[in-house]
Amino acid sequence: MHIPILLYHHVDSDVARISDPYCVSARRFRWQMEYLALHGYTSIDLNTAARIQSGEHFEGKPVIITFDDGYTNNYSIAFPILQELGLAATIFLLPDYCGKFAPESGDAMLNWQQIAEMSRYDVDFQSHGMSHTTLLGKNPALIYKEAIESKKMLSDQLAKQIDFFAYPFGQYDNVVQSQIQAAGYIGACGGTPMLDGSWPDDYAIGRTEIFESDRHLHFGFKVKRGYDYQLYLRKLGGRVKRRFRSS
Ligand SMILES: [Zn+2]
Repeated sequence: MHIPILLYHHVDSDVARISDPYCVSARRFRWQMEYLALHGYTSIDLNTAARIQSGEHFEGKPVIITFDDGYTNNYSIAFPILQELGLAATIFLLPDYCGKFAPESGDAMLNWQQIAEMSRYDVDFQSHGMSHTTLLGKNPALIYKEAIESKKMLSDQLAKQIDFFAYPFGQYDNVVQSQIQAAGYIGACGGTPMLDGSWPDDYAIGRTEIFESDRHLHFGFKVKRGYDYQLYLRKLGGRVKRRFRSS
C-alpha cells in the first residue's frame, strides 16, 4: 500500500519567519490539515506504516505527517491545529537541542515538558540524531554514537522504544545506513520516494517536503502521490529519455 509521508519543519504565524522556505504559515498549515481531514485521510505513525507494509490490513487512506528538528512552534502552533482536527504526527527530535536554542539558527526548540504533553496525545517522537550534524563522510563509530545515544536518550525520556531515524539534511550513503541499522533502528527517512511512491529500502524512506506555496492541486498531488508535481514531471521525463536511448 502506498503511504505518502509529508515533511514539515517550522509552522509559524510570525511574518519574518514565513518567508523562510522551511516554514509553512499557521493559516496554510490549517488549510492543508483541513484538506487531509476533508478528503478522508487517516494520519498514522511509522510503526503502523511498517506493519501495513508487511501485510497488516488497513482500512482507509493513510498519510504520515512528520516534522524535523522539533521547534517550539510545532507545540505552540501546529499541535493545537492537529488536536482540533484529530490528526496524528511524528516529530524527529535532536536530544542535544531539547529545551535550548539551536546553535546555528537561534531557534527555540521543544522542551521535555512540551514533548511529554504532546506524546500523551497523538504525537510520536523519533530520532534525528543527537545534534544536527551531517553523518555523510563521518567515521562509522561517530555515526553509530549519534544514532545509539539519541535512541537511548529519547527512549529514557519517553519510556518507549525508538525505532526510526531521519538523516540530518536528508544525507546518507551505505555507510550511514549500515550504522543506523546496527544501532537497532528498523527504518530511516531520507530522500524522496520512487516514482511509484514506494521506497528503495527501509533505510531510505522517502518523504515529500511541504511548502507555503502548496495548495489545491500541488498539495493534492503531494498527498495523493507522495510526490512533488514538478519533480515527478522531471523524473518521468528522465525515465522516458533513458528508454529512448536504450531502444
Ligand atoms: Zn533537520
